[in-house]
Amino acid sequence: MHWTNELTRRRFLAAAGIAVVGSGSTPNLRAAEDDKALIAITLDLEMSRNFPTREDMHWDYEKGNLNAETKAYAVEACRRVKAAGALLHCFAVGQVFEQENVDWLKGIVQAGHPVGNHTYDHVNVLATRSEDVQFRFQRAPWLIKGRTPAEVIRDNVRLATEAMRTRLGCEPTGFRTPGGFSDGLRTRPDVRAMLRELGFDWVSSLYPPHATPRPMEEPGAEVFDSIVRAQAAAQPFVYPDGLVEVPMSPISDIGAFRTGRWRLEWFLKAVRLGVEWAIDHRAVYDFLGHPSCLYVTDPDFRAIALICDLVRKAGDRAAIVGLDTIARRARSR
Ligand SMILES: [Zn+2]
Repeated sequence: MHWTNELTRRRFLAAAGIAVVGSGSTPNLRAAEDDKALIAITLDLEMSRNFPTREDMHWDYEKGNLNAETKAYAVEACRRVKAAGALLHCFAVGQVFEQENVDWLKGIVQAGHPVGNHTYDHVNVLATRSEDVQFRFQRAPWLIKGRTPAEVIRDNVRLATEAMRTRLGCEPTGFRTPGGFSDGLRTRPDVRAMLRELGFDWVSSLYPPHATPRPMEEPGAEVFDSIVRAQAAAQPFVYPDGLVEVPMSPISDIGAFRTGRWRLEWFLKAVRLGVEWAIDHRAVYDFLGHPSCLYVTDPDFRAIALICDLVRKAGDRAAIVGLDTIARRARSR
């Protein structure tokens, strides 16, 4: 919540004769959130290898060159979540802002949906060798010649923020690493320091390990159990330097549909079990989807509808929020 809104709320409550406890921040809001499950719906705005067809590989080199279907899916997903009374958190790769028209994304921002930074070229922020930074730079190494991987990565994060400022006129809401890491950034204080220096106070980088489904095979109880158990390892926490981690909750659409080649019904079951676990434990669930994958595998938005429905039925036990709200609660605990 913005300070101005909080001030307005306090004036309103004061006029109504209702005492507001605490000062300076948003204590009542925090109290209201404290006993709820916090559920996020996040979409990474990028193209995905193997979609729309298995043979498609070139997106590795142009992650941000979104096709029309991907943009349309993102817009409609945001519209549906807003109609359900909530917000959807997007993460954009900076290359997106080289496209001629970004009005669709401006509309998403104007509707109130937070948009975070996902680096400019979808780089691996853990890379320590030039060849591991990104496919684009394997093909075109002259683009990064003479710079260390750390310098290239830092510049890639900075450029994505600069592109957002220039074309959307706003700052990114948080940072998500391309790819998820089983240990998050626990062993990389250098990367955490870089993100803090670039203005981020939370990151979404951790994707906990779980049993990997065998391709095309219906997952058995052991796979679903493993995914539910992994939810406990996908809870937010604060690193020793103060940066907050908001993990991604398994299983991602890419894990299900690219790696597992799952049917939609299996994916929906995994999502339902994860959200139900989070609601039962008043915990966090951070759905990770990619419109470039979902427009092919879930064209009727069933995963998003399912999450909205589960949260609605949970009443005051759960809320759909942006990752910034989840980070704020993690910091206050
Ligand atoms: Zn990504």
